[in-house]
Amino acid sequence: MSETETKPSSNFIRHIIDEDISNNKNEGKVVTRFPPEPNGYLHIGHAKSICLNFGLAQDYKGICNLRFDDTNPEKEDMEYIDSIKADVSWLGFEWADEPKYASNYFAQLHQYAIDLIKAGKAYVCSLSPDEAREYRGSLKEPGKNSPYRDQSVEENLDLFERMKKGEFDEGAKVLRARIDMASPNINMRDPIIYRIRKVEHHQTGNEWCIYPMYDYTHCISDAIEGITHSLCTLEFEDHRPLYDWVLDQLDTPTHPQQIEFARLNLNYTITSKRKLKQLVDENHVLGWDDPRMPTISGLRRRGYTPASIRDFSDRIGVTKVDGVVDMGTLEFCIREDLEHSAPRAMCVINPLKVTIESWADGHEEELSAPRHPKDESMGRRNFKMTRVIYIDRSDFEEVPPPKYKRLTVDKEVRLRNSYVIKCNEVIKDEQGEVIELKCSHDADTLGKKPEGRKVKGVIHWVSAEHSVPAEVRLYDRLFTEESPDSAAKNHEDDDSHFLDFLNPDSLTVMSNARAEMSLADTQSGDSFQFEREGYFTADPDTTSEKLVFNRTVSLRDSWAKAGNSK
Ligand code: ATP
Ligand code: MG
Repeated sequence: MSETETKPSSNFIRHIIDEDISNNKNEGKVVTRFPPEPNGYLHIGHAKSICLNFGLAQDYKGICNLRFDDTNPEKEDMEYIDSIKADVSWLGFEWADEPKYASNYFAQLHQYAIDLIKAGKAYVCSLSPDEAREYRGSLKEPGKNSPYRDQSVEENLDLFERMKKGEFDEGAKVLRARIDMASPNINMRDPIIYRIRKVEHHQTGNEWCIYPMYDYTHCISDAIEGITHSLCTLEFEDHRPLYDWVLDQLDTPTHPQQIEFARLNLNYTITSKRKLKQLVDENHVLGWDDPRMPTISGLRRRGYTPASIRDFSDRIGVTKVDGVVDMGTLEFCIREDLEHSAPRAMCVINPLKVTIESWADGHEEELSAPRHPKDESMGRRNFKMTRVIYIDRSDFEEVPPPKYKRLTVDKEVRLRNSYVIKCNEVIKDEQGEVIELKCSHDADTLGKKPEGRKVKGVIHWVSAEHSVPAEVRLYDRLFTEESPDSAAKNHEDDDSHFLDFLNPDSLTVMSNARAEMSLADTQSGDSFQFEREGYFTADPDTTSEKLVFNRTVSLRDSWAKAGNSK
């Protein structure tokens, strides 16, 4: 951690840990874990959980495990495991030892299940899924005991063994905890702890055809690893009694404490792996790392830095109350970071040809400017002024609005880091579109104010000859609705309605952009402030022939200014 980074803000979890340490609970140790299910790429919500878990371990000189909660083999994949490891490392965190897998504990979990059966705390149930649903009751009505609930221990042991051997079909039998069918908490109504799945597992191959359920697995995995504080999101609050019940029945090495905090919700996007996967699978975006995605890999490709995401996580804090964070907060964090670290450059995104007729043909002048206005250590960059240059189309208006400060007919403007020019003539094509401007320059204005008049506007430019071609990808919100998920809730039958709110203009590709010469050696991942335009980061699609830039974020929050946000 660099010296400029401030101490993390306090929160209720830190208070609990401080208290535990002062009582010498867990011998004063702090062991946390980040437990993703490898069924998709991580998103910004996971980043909050990563920063919290790894951050606490760091600050309290404890450790944090990376544990894959891999109990759902059909949805899981090695690709996801690899991406998760890469994302956690990229964010700047190190897990203790090797990554862990809940599947490492399958044998132990199985033994504990036998212990539960022997203690009369679990039974094999042969109700069909439909019957089981009916027996479960509802929020208003208690459930009913399964007719299999009082089978003998011997029979349960025998049936469970035969489940394990693959004698029964999927769904034919399950192992259930024997708790209380009348509990007001549905999670406690004899929840399933093992089910039959005749599928190969990415870690254990075909060793198992019964797989433990998440709730049963999670608490035991925590206990085996000696986790002290098991942090999860608020929706697991109702699962805590089950977490504790399982550990209370078993002779596990420890009994970790589950603590819930509010998940991160970000407006104009979604943070559900399932829905993000749908966007990818149905080609609404170009992949998990599409720069419009709220995934960590998407944000990285977009140009977000690990520091900006850690800063964001710290700013939003950790509470017990669900809320929605404005996308502007995330954008603020990357803008702050790049303001200090990104070198400046000029890039004309939508070029308009300008011929400076007063400039001798073939004459070139080498000019330069600092890479950063406030950081001399970044040095200077050179670029050439020539007779033909490009300016941005949006910097010229034939009929300018009042107080227009850019270029218009018969008026002057300063070319940034160069001379003052004046527009003398507008050339149009047959459709009436402006295709070129004929201008003249004032040779006495390099680094000086023009004599006897004021020129207010400054626009960026590049030399036509001494510039490099670039493609610039401009991004907007992925969704047009602040809360695509809840807007979609008005539709009952299926949950694909969030797709109705996809922003059709979320990506604009500007394929004829021109960047100043100093950008010729740009490598994928390099970030710049394109003067007057915003912060841009070179995309992995960049080749030696063509630079490709993603707009990471605009210079200012113009989106809020346009009256879009509330
Ligand atoms: P999703 O709903 O996107 O699939 P999940 O909770 O099922 O998320 P997991 O892989 O189980 O995904 O999550 C790993 C950890 O990240 C869990 O501890 C979970 O609580 C946490 N987490 C997931 N989403 C968020 C979020 N939006 N904000 C904070 N933490 C989150
Ligand atoms: Mg989950």
